[in-house]
Amino acid sequence: MGEATQDEQGFDAIVVGTGPGGATVARELARRGARVLVLERGSDAPVRGTLAQAVRWLGMPGESLLLTTGGLPITRGVTLGGSSVFYYATAYEPPLADFDRLGIDLRPALAETRAELPIGPLGDRLMGPMSRRIMGSARALGLDWNPLDKLIDQQHCRTECWRCGYGCPYGAKWTTRLYVEDAVAHGAVLRADARVRRVLVRDGAAYGVEYTAGGAVHRALARQVILSAGGIGTPEILRKSGVEGVGQAFFIDPLIAVFGFVDDASGGPGPGGTRRVAGREVPMSAGVRLASEGYVMTDMTLPPALFRAMALARGRLWRLGQHDRALTIMVKIKDDLGGSIAPSGRIRKPLTAADRAKLDHGYAQARAILAGAGASGIFRSNVLAAHPGGTAKIGETVDVNLQTRLANLYVCDCSVIPEAWGLPPTLTLICLAKRLAGALAAGER
Ligand SMILES: Cc1cc2nc3c(=O)[nH]c(=O)nc-3n(C[C@H](O)[C@H](O)[C@H](O)COP(=O)(O)OP(=O)(O)OC[C@H]3O[C@@H](n4cnc5c(N)ncnc54)[C@H](O)[C@@H]3O)c2cc1C
Repeated sequence: MGEATQDEQGFDAIVVGTGPGGATVARELARRGARVLVLERGSDAPVRGTLAQAVRWLGMPGESLLLTTGGLPITRGVTLGGSSVFYYATAYEPPLADFDRLGIDLRPALAETRAELPIGPLGDRLMGPMSRRIMGSARALGLDWNPLDKLIDQQHCRTECWRCGYGCPYGAKWTTRLYVEDAVAHGAVLRADARVRRVLVRDGAAYGVEYTAGGAVHRALARQVILSAGGIGTPEILRKSGVEGVGQAFFIDPLIAVFGFVDDASGGPGPGGTRRVAGREVPMSAGVRLASEGYVMTDMTLPPALFRAMALARGRLWRLGQHDRALTIMVKIKDDLGGSIAPSGRIRKPLTAADRAKLDHGYAQARAILAGAGASGIFRSNVLAAHPGGTAKIGETVDVNLQTRLANLYVCDCSVIPEAWGLPPTLTLICLAKRLAGALAAGER
């Protein structure tokens, strides 16, 4: 690594990371006239929707694909846009009452977000045959299974497509890259391939960050620093900056996919006469939340390679070529807070007996739904996780204004969620970020 270059100065705020937390803060601050520097560890190359890119940005061992000591994979997007590039674009409402109890009112930010973004359930054209079939069976079993809000520009979304999970190359799936673009259009400076190592601290106050890019160490100075490097990235930076007690007792929202197979999977003719091909449809388009049981279930058509990897891991070799016959349900649980992330990066997050019981309960429910939909050969995947959070909690590491004990240093991402979670968090994080940006801008005034 080369010598440190000259300090970059003149920024009001440095935002680290461009997932839902960081991109939203950066955009909101830039639109209010702040001079913002955005530092993103990952690449800003265009999203191509290919397996190779998904492996690089979402499945790279040690970078975007992390294993707990128990071998449970946790995946996160390391690219401009963070995990939003690979998310399934389902917009779950923030748990407003839980935030009310903390003294955080997310309603104004939620109303603003809903007015701004393409949020709504899929129209008839895009609701796939597998999703409908699963919904029909779940409802016949008495479950309140309904279409879910999606963050998709439906005009540009294609039928017979499963690319959400590889990154949408058609610009239909909303990602936080659009917020970064808007921030840049309002004067923000974006540096991709720039990895922040630590926050610069003097007299109990943050005044910039040190980052590596292009083989050199750089320092950038600003009056405020907002860490949005995600549930695993943020505690790593906090620790190196002297903030202790992070990365403890967190959640990962573990999930399993439950697969069943049908013979009559073509879906028949869709609206307008198009043949709807099974295995190619928007994932997570409908589902149910069983709050008292502690899990959510949705349909979840997977990209073929991921389906094959999951089937292979369970020894179902004869299923490898049957992606287009698979009906898939995701069961995602609200896991108990627990585990720790060591300074070395080692992640310990054993599932508790209660976590396992929830997964088993969800599996039994999913089996019943799939069987009711006419599927056979039902099996479950290994457990994996995609929502690490609660590693720098409100009430512990940050206050209700998301400020750390260091002046001018804030955290805004999945890390701050203070309790066991169990929900796709994107919409909540956008709301938290809007609220933070509004407060920072008001403070400046
Ligand atoms: C496959 C998949 C499907 C999902 N589906 C949904 C869904 O349908 N709905 C939903 O709401 N949620 C979904 N999620 C979860 C959601 O995408 C994440 O919870 C959310 O993006 C977390 O936001 P964040 O801002 O905390 O962090 P991230 O999105 O993880 O962003 C963190 C950013 O910081 C960058 N970074 C990390 N370390 C550094 C560093 N040292 N220096 C600079 N930059 C750094 C990363 O590269 C990344 O861009 C899904 C996630 C995955 C992986």
